[in-house]
Amino acid sequence: MKPIEEIKPLLENPKKVVITMHQKPDADAMGSSLAMYHYLIQKGHEVTVISPTNFPDFLKWMPAAELVIDFESSNDKAMAALEGIQLLFCLDFNALYRTKNMAPFLEKLDCTKILIDHHLEPQPSFDFGVSDTSASSTAQLVYETIYKLGEEKYINLDIAACIYAGTVTDTGSFRFSSTSARVHRMVADLMDRGLKHEIIHQNIYDNFLENRLRFLGHSLLNRMEVFYEYNTAMLAIPYSDLKRFDLMTGDTEGLVNFLLSIQGIKLAALIIDRNVEVKLSFRSKGDFDVNTFARKYFDGGGHFNASGGRSVDSLDKTVERFIRAIRENEEQLQ
Ligand code: 5GP
Ligand code: MN
Repeated sequence: MKPIEEIKPLLENPKKVVITMHQKPDADAMGSSLAMYHYLIQKGHEVTVISPTNFPDFLKWMPAAELVIDFESSNDKAMAALEGIQLLFCLDFNALYRTKNMAPFLEKLDCTKILIDHHLEPQPSFDFGVSDTSASSTAQLVYETIYKLGEEKYINLDIAACIYAGTVTDTGSFRFSSTSARVHRMVADLMDRGLKHEIIHQNIYDNFLENRLRFLGHSLLNRMEVFYEYNTAMLAIPYSDLKRFDLMTGDTEGLVNFLLSIQGIKLAALIIDRNVEVKLSFRSKGDFDVNTFARKYFDGGGHFNASGGRSVDSLDKTVERFIRAIRENEEQLQ
């Protein structure tokens, strides 16, 4: 993979471009993709952003979110947008299977593929890119890419808002260890450019329906287990809860972080029965490596302190497997 700044000559004349991200995109996937979109359209390219699936309502405020095509629900439009593209940008993921039903189509595309990502262990199928696991967010890498291309004059308020949104969510509002001085310098620059940060926080964090808060209360009261001997807390959510509280995409986002607020807890797990499969989210504090943990036991991956995986077993079976897995890791969890 050649360094990202070497794409500069490719951007000099108009191209047909698609930007895509991981399925069920979060604010970083959407924010980095839309920031890249707002940069590339100013350069005169024909750009389409495709999400492999739908995305949470609380991201609909993002500038140009209404133009994002859902590969599942608008498949014809997505396929037309992919037809004959010259450049494919893959943002905030590094393994094609994370684009779900899009993966077989992306694999077959005959075009230049560009990666911008901060997850561990990238697949080696990209022509150009940046894979920086020390970056707080993919949004930050998009910001730095624009600088590396010497194009910072294009960083307008739309780009600033998208980059800030991805960074604020992926850093847990600037609290995780990935929040480097580099992050704060970038935010200072975005604020100098006129960014209104408080509106973005309200759009992301104060934008839920009542049922989501009631679901949160119900889950913490009835679905949480704490294994003090392994410094681990777990929430196991049956599919019936998702139905009962009428949850939407994105409503379970951030839930896992509540578990880490218990004194002494090093590993937090959120295990949700999504009916077709069980999804797992892991978060850790300090030196417990949840990327390796997710890879080893649950066919997943991610970052050192935040990762995810999946299971085709029932919820109960998955929980049993999780408990066996933490027993096997007892020493590392001390
Ligand atoms: P979340 O728990 O918020 O869904 O994901 C946490 C982190 O782990 C994110 O960076 C996400 O991209 C990654 N991740 C989540 N699920 C999977 C998975 O099934 N496979 C891999 N490789 N990474 C995942
Ligand atoms: Mn990210």
